[in-house]
Amino acid sequence: MCGIVGYIGERNCVPILINGLKRLEYRGYDSAGIGIIDNNKSIVVKNKGKVSLLEDKLEELNLYSNIGIGHTRWATHGIPNELNAHPHANEDNTIFLIHNGIIENYQVLKKGLINFGYKFKSETDSEVLVHLIDNFIKKGYDLTTSVQLALSEVEGTYGLAIVYSKEPDKIIAARKGSPLVVGIGDNENFIASDVSAILAHTKQVIYLEDGEIAVIKKDSFNATTVHNDEIEKEIHEITMTLDEIDRGGYAHFMLKEIMEQPETLRNSLRGRIIDDEGSSVLGGLTDVVNKLVNSKRIIITACGTSWHAGLVGEYMFEQFCRIPTEVEYASEFRYRNPIIEKDDAIFFISQSGETADTLAALKEAKMKGALVLGICNAVGSSIARETNAGVYTHAGPEIGVASTKAFTSQLTVLALITLLIARRKSLSRIDGKQIADELRLLPEKIEKILTLNDQIEVIAEEFKNSTNFLYLGRGYNFPVALEGALKLKEISYIHAEGYPAAEMKHGPIALIDENMPVVFIAPKDSTYEKIISNIQEVKARGGRTIAIASEDDNDIDQLVDYSIKIPNTIRMLTPILTVIPLQLLAYHIAVKKGLNVDQPRNLAKSVTVE
Ligand code: GLU
Repeated sequence: MCGIVGYIGERNCVPILINGLKRLEYRGYDSAGIGIIDNNKSIVVKNKGKVSLLEDKLEELNLYSNIGIGHTRWATHGIPNELNAHPHANEDNTIFLIHNGIIENYQVLKKGLINFGYKFKSETDSEVLVHLIDNFIKKGYDLTTSVQLALSEVEGTYGLAIVYSKEPDKIIAARKGSPLVVGIGDNENFIASDVSAILAHTKQVIYLEDGEIAVIKKDSFNATTVHNDEIEKEIHEITMTLDEIDRGGYAHFMLKEIMEQPETLRNSLRGRIIDDEGSSVLGGLTDVVNKLVNSKRIIITACGTSWHAGLVGEYMFEQFCRIPTEVEYASEFRYRNPIIEKDDAIFFISQSGETADTLAALKEAKMKGALVLGICNAVGSSIARETNAGVYTHAGPEIGVASTKAFTSQLTVLALITLLIARRKSLSRIDGKQIADELRLLPEKIEKILTLNDQIEVIAEEFKNSTNFLYLGRGYNFPVALEGALKLKEISYIHAEGYPAAEMKHGPIALIDENMPVVFIAPKDSTYEKIISNIQEVKARGGRTIAIASEDDNDIDQLVDYSIKIPNTIRMLTPILTVIPLQLLAYHIAVKKGLNVDQPRNLAKSVTVE
């Protein structure tokens, strides 16, 4: 999920790697490292924390080499520390590699390798790769064949760069689900996870596709499949500026992160669904699953967008797990001396895992002896460390201050936890399977919603000068109304409120006139008829309406000014789809108002003050 850069040629690779890693810093990372070959000996230098620390270390060592690879790690397995930082090396230090992504079957592979006598130094999933390759080298294969054979045993995602001191004329790179690009120079070649890392040296690049393995020498390049079939590759010329590249070609990180959601959802789900059983497997909850299933009450504690995710979680847990669930603002939970019983399970949701209010609430709950569980995006963060157990969302680093992809991944993880608990209680295999199947379909459905971007931009143009907005939803989509309003407030500075649709008539209806746009989240579910009545009430008072509606709902077009149509899914999962158009609407309104979308005024990405 983080950064890779590699060099082979005639210059000293060390400054090239360091500058490349610095270019990748904006993506967020927790540790950094490089590996080089000096006089046929491999040298690996790495540390927790910044690239500048690595640079200081390297300055003292004064290394020189024509071949090397560098990595910034964003931990998924194992806390950020020096041992877990990449590169990872085999026992005799001849092979080293860097890896972006997640090896799903690493536990099985690790067990097998330990049986062969391999010793592991880190807690990462990545380390299995180096021993697996080593195992084939020991059988007499060359590096390229060993990598091909090793990767045919691997499930998961990877962007990989591998170096072997006994074949110091090449870097092997491999890609599956994690981007890699080869830079072509004059008597020198590069590899990177992102062109921005190598753009200072070349504009000629070859994009690797999933399933491709590349052998990069200083004056040649070739690509094969894992089965050693040759692949013809085309050289492309980069025309984008560095700034554009950092944002993946998008105008803002927020848009990039909205557009990434099919992929981030796949990452949140990867390896976690047991199709046959209609259930889920969440490694981080294994030790506490019985306690969780038998808990008498669940409390979800969070702030901001994570709190909205918690509200959806409440609906899921109560409907399917039949466990009474409460959702608390972390700041309030902490200060009102909450009653915590011994059979309570308390979830703490935070993207960064450093949210000060949530962390303080966690400490309070822990002191009172509750089972405390984390749902975080940042591995090894304070909340992840302080909780008894938990689940990572695997959404990758989120840079835009207004959370988007982290939210949909939190909802996905909450759905997986629901499956885990509910299948051990009253949920049937068939019903569990239906949820699992629908979860798997979500990334494709999000792709479909993202094609509505232009339509949503037109709606944004129409409403960009409004000074107030109302968002209304029911049931599972009431929290989405809150989240839609929050997105708009955060980045466009327009006053917006979210309400349960039925509450409108108890007060907010007084605000309705032609200057008050109302966004209805109205997918076809059990509350649909009711929400249609609420739309009528707004229409009758001259309000202007936008509806997020099901794709097969033609009737709603007669009623509302604008409708945005989304694919159908089961009720509990609708928030993961309905929120996407709201993210885009907020985004386009803010852009049209000329505001700084990625760094809105007064807001911080990780709120580490109480
Ligand atoms: N899964 C690997 C780890 O936790 C790679 C992380 C990354 O993509 O940076 O070390």
